[in-house]
Amino acid sequence: MTLRKTKIVATLGPSSSSEEMLARLITAGVNVVRLNFSHGLAEDHIKRAQIVRAIAAKLNRPIGVLCDLQGPKIRIGKFELGKITLKTGDLFVLDADSELGNQYQVGLDYKTLPQEVTAGVVLLLDDGRITMQVDRVKGNQIHCVVLSGGILSNNKGINRQGGGLSADALTKKDREDIKTAVALEADYIAISFPKSAQDVELARSLVKAVGGTASIVAKIERAEAIDNLETIIEASDAIMVARGDLGVEVGDAAVPGLQKRMIRMARMQNKLVITATQMMESMITSPIPTRAEVSDVANAVLDGTDAVMLSAETAAGQYPLETVQAVHRVVIEAEKEYFRQQHVRKLDQVFLKTDEAIAAAAIYTTQHLKVKALAALTQSGNAAQWLSRADPEVPIYALSPDKVARRKLTLHRGVYPFPIDQVNKNRDEILQEMQQILLQERVVDNGDLVMLTFGEPFGNSGGTNTMMIVKIGENKQVLLSKPLDNI
Ligand code: PGA
Ligand code: MN
Repeated sequence: MTLRKTKIVATLGPSSSSEEMLARLITAGVNVVRLNFSHGLAEDHIKRAQIVRAIAAKLNRPIGVLCDLQGPKIRIGKFELGKITLKTGDLFVLDADSELGNQYQVGLDYKTLPQEVTAGVVLLLDDGRITMQVDRVKGNQIHCVVLSGGILSNNKGINRQGGGLSADALTKKDREDIKTAVALEADYIAISFPKSAQDVELARSLVKAVGGTASIVAKIERAEAIDNLETIIEASDAIMVARGDLGVEVGDAAVPGLQKRMIRMARMQNKLVITATQMMESMITSPIPTRAEVSDVANAVLDGTDAVMLSAETAAGQYPLETVQAVHRVVIEAEKEYFRQQHVRKLDQVFLKTDEAIAAAAIYTTQHLKVKALAALTQSGNAAQWLSRADPEVPIYALSPDKVARRKLTLHRGVYPFPIDQVNKNRDEILQEMQQILLQERVVDNGDLVMLTFGEPFGNSGGTNTMMIVKIGENKQVLLSKPLDNI
């Protein structure tokens, strides 16, 4: 089987919650599951996480769990009849005091919206399917003229064109959900609509306060987040190119360029990046993707994303398995055309960390020596992350005794985590074990060269200081003074 480097994140929901379907999705290649806290109860998420972990153990595959917080998505209330149809030119009122909506008005869950908009502002409802312009604000009522109509149903989202709403990035519900996410041992927690690095830092401190170790993913989906991209990335472990809401705020045409910018910036800062939303949208109801969707997934791979994410396709679609299979197929093909340039970009940099310098040296060597794979002995996973950012052509085997580190490494492009037992072992025994793992996994044959990185003394986190070329099966280092043909 061809190894796929780019990872697949699949959102779970009604279409993908049975044990049988989860096992099929994981076997088909899902690396990380996303639990979407915008839907469902805490119990549902806890149960899904348990089933996923049980299946992962049974199939002997590391699977990451990403909990995605709802965030301050501003929504309208409910309608008497569930939905209405608006026509262009209709007058419509968003009323913070309304209980139940009708043809002329609807309530708001974000009660201060009337204070944050003025005449002329354009509001986008239901991901931009309906637009209306504010004509005037009267107390708690926003009087609007419909610019572009359509069907409007219960609880649809509202965005302001150009951004600028001041809702807190972490709502009361998010703070509760963080506790649930930590209780189910989330590997990643995604925060929705952060505006600044402070929002990310707040989320991190809330996670820590309840004893969580999850990495923090900042979803870039607000116009303000684009202005603060550099510092938000710095404060985060990963970002998500959240194209749905982002497209509503900044306009759809700006999204592809921003996707490229975000992926480039995340990688430059040695951070991770997930590309999300509508990647295989038509597969919600069709067993095959459109050419445009195939191109979209392929282009995210060519941009250098760590992972592509599926939303409704796997959560609520009719063809969750076919969708994952299609993404797998498309990614493998796209990776053949991937143009690596990371190492070139970094040629003139001074590295501040040993790990990064070792990673760069390891990548340089694998490009000039016929090395079959990279292997990193890593406690925290950091060493493997550095190698992944340096973007080698060969796979990176991350050998870690830490279960949590291994689960986090499911998101990293080109990284394959494996357990290794380092307790009470000396260096030679560990090298022996590393070789056994790679042979067992059939990723190398006897006689192949592997580039190994590790930190001596063993067992310390963040101490990578050594790289070594190992010839599999010989249990000794390659003597670099001899011509390679003789070793
Ligand atoms: P959501 O985030 O699916 O939670 O809204 C992703 C996006 O906005 O693209
Ligand atoms: Mn969103």
